[in-house]
Amino acid sequence: MAGPKTVELLPRAAQAVVRGHPWVFREGCARRPDGKPGDLVAVVHGKDRLGTALFDPEGPIALRMLDRDPAARIDDAWVVRRIEGAVARRPVDALATTTAYRLVNGEGDGLPGVVVDRYGDAAVVRTDGPAPRAFADRHRAAILRALREPTVLHRDPRGSTDGVVAWRGEVPEPFVVREHGMQMVVDLAHGQKTGAFLDQRENRRRVRELARGKKVLNLCSYQGGFSLAAALAGATHTTSVDVAEKGHEVAKESFRANGLDPAAHAFVTQDVFDFLARKAARRDVWDLVVCDPPSFAPSEKAKPRALDAYRRLHRAAVQVTRKGGLLCASSCSSHVTHEDFLTTLDVAATGAELTVVAVGGQPFDHPTTPAWAEGRYLKWVELLRA
Ligand code: SAH
Repeated sequence: MAGPKTVELLPRAAQAVVRGHPWVFREGCARRPDGKPGDLVAVVHGKDRLGTALFDPEGPIALRMLDRDPAARIDDAWVVRRIEGAVARRPVDALATTTAYRLVNGEGDGLPGVVVDRYGDAAVVRTDGPAPRAFADRHRAAILRALREPTVLHRDPRGSTDGVVAWRGEVPEPFVVREHGMQMVVDLAHGQKTGAFLDQRENRRRVRELARGKKVLNLCSYQGGFSLAAALAGATHTTSVDVAEKGHEVAKESFRANGLDPAAHAFVTQDVFDFLARKAARRDVWDLVVCDPPSFAPSEKAKPRALDAYRRLHRAAVQVTRKGGLLCASSCSSHVTHEDFLTTLDVAATGAELTVVAVGGQPFDHPTTPAWAEGRYLKWVELLRA
């Protein structure tokens, strides 16, 4: 039987793979073979066999490294081992009062382009484009065997539709999960990513530590996770601002699920820039401001514009942060490094003297590898306004 096709790498790409980087971009291949998304290829550099990868003839990422052992057989048993390994790495004690967390973090758990999030009795498999989707489809039986949840759903944000498909069980109606004991309503059929933003879990917990007795503003609030954390912690009042109204409904359900009255809080459907301009003109201020906008930089090329948007947003957010108050600024763009992000918060950017008092990021269930810097995408900076 013929073995897999071989792809020769250029020196720089080979070096990255040897360091443990999971991706080879199109430009890194000396010649690209014909093939279908999801084909397996042998990756070589000169005489060195670097392993087996998943091939994508279309996207910017041509190869995703599956196994650096060139002799490894990529079969159902391999897939089960990878998923079981990932699940076994999650410390159960740390998740005793949490039923929503990431079971498999793609590249960070050795299963490139495939993420699995657990929401109570449901697991959501999210594939990142055609090659990982073809791979997951081919090994669907193994994935279902490795996952214990009675309901398993599949989503692919870059598929023809971002519709959710049930691989086992049925697509559930919105339901309640627990995060460090806090009740959160999730909508797996319509929510962003796999349903909710699990990567902000420890930062929501931080807000719970900080918000007692405070008046809190949550910018780009989506389903209100930070507002909920703040209200539960005893914030005197929370204001959630999002340009999309739908998230507010889920947020209000979550408030009720925790015995909180959403009518005692504000949910504003408006562009944050307009909202902030209006409030700054009235000199309204908050004690604690959380700012977690969408990824402004979908590509490396969009980065300068994205940094500019962060600067404008942070300058406006600082203006409504009380002197002595705290601004929590976050970014989920992998193209924006931590250092880049800090430049959007400095005195030239914001016009204010801010002190960085704490820095956070993504939690342990979103692991990465040392060579895969892009995987550590979530930034969280807590700044005190002098
Ligand atoms: N902070 C949220 C996640 C934010 S996702 C959480 O922790 O769950 C980004 C949100 O920003 C989306 O809900 C989107 O509707 C909103 N958004 C994007 N652009 C906006 C704008 N200009 N003004 C207000 N909201 C915006």
